[in-house]
Amino acid sequence: MPPSPAPIRVLMLTATAGFRHDSIPVARQTMADLAARASTFTVTATETLADINASRLASTDVLMFALTSGELPFDATQKDAIVSFVMNGGGYVGIHSATDTLYQWPDYGRIVGAYFKEHPWTQEAAVTIEDRGHPITTGLAASFRLLEEFYTFQQNPRPSVHVLLSLDAASVLAQGDFPLAWTQTVGQGRSYYNALGHFDSTWRDGWFQSQITNAIRWVAQR
Ligand SMILES: [Zn+2]
Repeated sequence: MPPSPAPIRVLMLTATAGFRHDSIPVARQTMADLAARASTFTVTATETLADINASRLASTDVLMFALTSGELPFDATQKDAIVSFVMNGGGYVGIHSATDTLYQWPDYGRIVGAYFKEHPWTQEAAVTIEDRGHPITTGLAASFRLLEEFYTFQQNPRPSVHVLLSLDAASVLAQGDFPLAWTQTVGQGRSYYNALGHFDSTWRDGWFQSQITNAIRWVAQR
């Protein structure tokens, strides 16, 4: 038998400098449960910004911003460490308000892919899977319905990212193009963002969990 590969090391940040989601404890518990179940990755969750530094990132495969918000006060050295981590092949996963984070730092905006604009719809709506052949969305039905707080973005990221999920605008009686999850390559690194995750129920949903598990593997290039 070939040796099993070393688990992917995920460093999960849930620090907030703005809105704080009630779903943060469930998000952390979900990630711990998924890591225990999958055994393909480990998760270290932190709220301590000082944990995000070059030496810590040297033993990290995937940096995850889950439900972060606001202008997290990273210093210039930390910002350099985050950018070089991704540019040199590290993985990034952003969930929900990860786009409501660090508006004043354009390099971060490039890594996550967009900045939050507003959330016009908090209701059940239909989500379209645009690419069912991608390793992250494999096995999903063509569309599904869920209760969420659906985001729009300051600029539509579609020209610079690969969209995996989008809102079915008709299901909220709207018109337009509303991407909800995407991937992109940043330097040598890979980035995945999913705008869902406002409610505990989303984190507890099997399809959401499988996407995160798949995304961790994809951004880690495993
Ligand atoms: Zn929210």
